[in-house]
Amino acid sequence: MANAPRRKSDAARRANQVIRIRTLMMMALLGILTFFLLFWKLYDIQINQHDKLQADAVKQQTRSTVVTASRGTIYDKNGTPLAISATAETVFISPKDISDHAEDQDADYIARGLGRILEVDPDTLLEKMEKTWSQFEIVKKRADQEVADEVRKFLNGWIDDAGNELVEENEDGEMVLKSDPSKKPTRLYGIYLQPDSKRYYPYGTLAANVLGFVDGENNGGVGLEAKYDSTLKGTSGLTITAKNAAGGDLLYQYEQYYDAENGKSLVTTLDANVQSCLEDGLESMLTKFGAKNGGTGIVMDVNSGAIVGMASYPNYDLNDYGTLYDEKLKETLAAKLAALEKNRGTYESQEAYDEAVKKVKSDVVNTQWRNKCVDSTYEPGSTFKPITLATALEEGVVDMNTTFSCSGSIKVQGWGKPINCSRKTGHGTQTLKVATGNSCNPAFITMGLKIGTEKYYEYLKSFGLMEKTGVDMIGEAHGIFADEKSFNSNVVSLASYAFGQTFNVTPLELIRAQAACINGGYLYQPYVVDQVLDDEGNVVEQHDSTPIRQVVSEETSAKVRECLEYVVASGTGKNGQVAGYRIGGKTGTADKTGTRTPSNPQGDIVVSFMCFAPANDPQYIMLLTMDTPRRDTGTYPSGGNMVAPTASRIMSEILPWLGVEPDYTADQLAGADANVPNVVGQTAEAAKEKLTSLGFDCKTIGTGDTVTDQTPTGGAIVPNNATILLYLGTEKPNAPATVPHVVGLTAAEANKALTNAGLIMRVTGVTTAASGNVHAISQDKPEGTQLEAGSVVTVQFGSQPSSAD
Ligand SMILES: [Zn+2]
Repeated sequence: MANAPRRKSDAARRANQVIRIRTLMMMALLGILTFFLLFWKLYDIQINQHDKLQADAVKQQTRSTVVTASRGTIYDKNGTPLAISATAETVFISPKDISDHAEDQDADYIARGLGRILEVDPDTLLEKMEKTWSQFEIVKKRADQEVADEVRKFLNGWIDDAGNELVEENEDGEMVLKSDPSKKPTRLYGIYLQPDSKRYYPYGTLAANVLGFVDGENNGGVGLEAKYDSTLKGTSGLTITAKNAAGGDLLYQYEQYYDAENGKSLVTTLDANVQSCLEDGLESMLTKFGAKNGGTGIVMDVNSGAIVGMASYPNYDLNDYGTLYDEKLKETLAAKLAALEKNRGTYESQEAYDEAVKKVKSDVVNTQWRNKCVDSTYEPGSTFKPITLATALEEGVVDMNTTFSCSGSIKVQGWGKPINCSRKTGHGTQTLKVATGNSCNPAFITMGLKIGTEKYYEYLKSFGLMEKTGVDMIGEAHGIFADEKSFNSNVVSLASYAFGQTFNVTPLELIRAQAACINGGYLYQPYVVDQVLDDEGNVVEQHDSTPIRQVVSEETSAKVRECLEYVVASGTGKNGQVAGYRIGGKTGTADKTGTRTPSNPQGDIVVSFMCFAPANDPQYIMLLTMDTPRRDTGTYPSGGNMVAPTASRIMSEILPWLGVEPDYTADQLAGADANVPNVVGQTAEAAKEKLTSLGFDCKTIGTGDTVTDQTPTGGAIVPNNATILLYLGTEKPNAPATVPHVVGLTAAEANKALTNAGLIMRVTGVTTAASGNVHAISQDKPEGTQLEAGSVVTVQFGSQPSSAD
């Protein structure tokens, strides 16, 4: 018996075990089954029925809305933001919600209130509210933050439709009705705000024609904004707005399903300061000479093709791109509209006339958005001569000793009458350098004929003039030239091409070819975007500025530089000189083909000037053009007279900023003593004008309009070419200046060291020497002396470096 129970118990244990195992297995199986079932259900819900369920969810308790990704920033090369995206809010209404609450609230009241805040016609709003099936009708896109806050007050019942405050804060910090402090304000239904972003251009017109703008849908319209639209834009996200249990909308609770992927940022090669100097210079030139068709300006790094500054006129304000900005353009529009009005009778219907008016307006507005540096071509005239010069030198058909004789005109086979030189009486016999300095047409025609049609055409191609430069900008045009066969068939085109007429190029094509002439012969692909950054600031793309090809040799290039430095030192480009710098350049005055009429017998011209610095080792090149200046301004219309002075002004401002060191001779620095006038209290403009008219240089510190202090103070006696510091609202530092050691330095070096220390140098002794080897031999205040800022330190120069310092 003892065994039986044991056996029984064994059997029972076994049976139990089996049951347990079965149970476990069953449970496991059930578990797996359940898991699969659940998984399937989950899968079904999440994947198969996702769209349907989501659609139901959207209908029942949520609203899905698109969240615009934050558009990337556009920076200048120093990190100054030129285009940014600021937070804004889009205001929309749900006509359905408004109609669902028709008993609690008055649609007219909502229309009046929103209309007032958002500057929208209330009737338009009422029309939208009639679409009672709709839950999403946009009232105002990208409203500024203050406006959005006002909408929020209105929908929370804090203000009424006329903007009157309805609430006050009680002791508990709650908003209660002024009229009945026991009641809370009544919220309005059906008004919503959705976060969005708005493009904003902190500098308005600065580099407008390069940057471009985004349209009403946040898409790049023109310029870099269009070229790099997909990079800047990012990917939109989706958010779902939830409703609470009572069916009311939770105002600010967004359940985000898909994150927006922010756009990437661009670091451009533009320098905001260079751009501003370029634009200031161009604007005053265009105004002074009443240029009918605006102008262009490009500043480029000679050794990489990086565009440091680029301006095109007429321009516009990026924050208000639809409005005409330029006065001349406004006149143009008025004239065109007047002409339409005159012919009104010829239009079949009011609609046709309205359409014509609309078209004229849009054409004129489009004009101000163009970047003529890139999308327009012109006949360059004599600024093209460096290309002929470089080609002739490279082909060995001329050298620096070649002479040309000019009688005032030259006969070219196949051309009816002789081609004139700018000097009717002729330039006589000239060397290559002097002929370039004189911009002598017969000399350049002679060079062209020596090169020959086939070779010349080959170089036009090699200089990249027949193709787009490949710059990263939209709408690029390219040069317009005779086809190769007809060009080669006779020398007539060759003769005119040699001095820059009867063909067209874009300013950008020309400046990069000019750069190749002087930088050692290298043709670069110009570019504006140097880096692309992700939204954490990491560089994800970097521009590579490898030259495309070498067009001419280093030796040829050096000779071209020498000739072009002569143009500015002694030739037609003298007005382009900049104190302290070696400048090379070329003037241009080109007739606009087909503009001579009985009422305009001389025709229209394009005047221009190209310059670069330093002439012996070029770093930056600039090309300015002005289209159709007036002829009656008292200035003889030519590039040398009208454009070179502006180029000089711009270069004198941008070269020091760009770190190109001035190379003053002691002679240039040795100014006579003069009394510094007191200009405190004057406008910065007036103060600068007064000081520069006396020969002083000025440097402003701060951003105000009025001079609040100056160094040295009024009454001080300093060399009349000293730099006077003008403080515009910024406090003048109290710290004394410490005299640096300058003995042994050149005049330029000594001046720089003293200016940097806040002191002024007076030069005595030998200032010029045949050898050019002039150095400071003594200084009247020893190194380390503490002086008041703006004090004068007298430095004696000699042609022998001092051994005893
Ligand atoms: Zn001549």
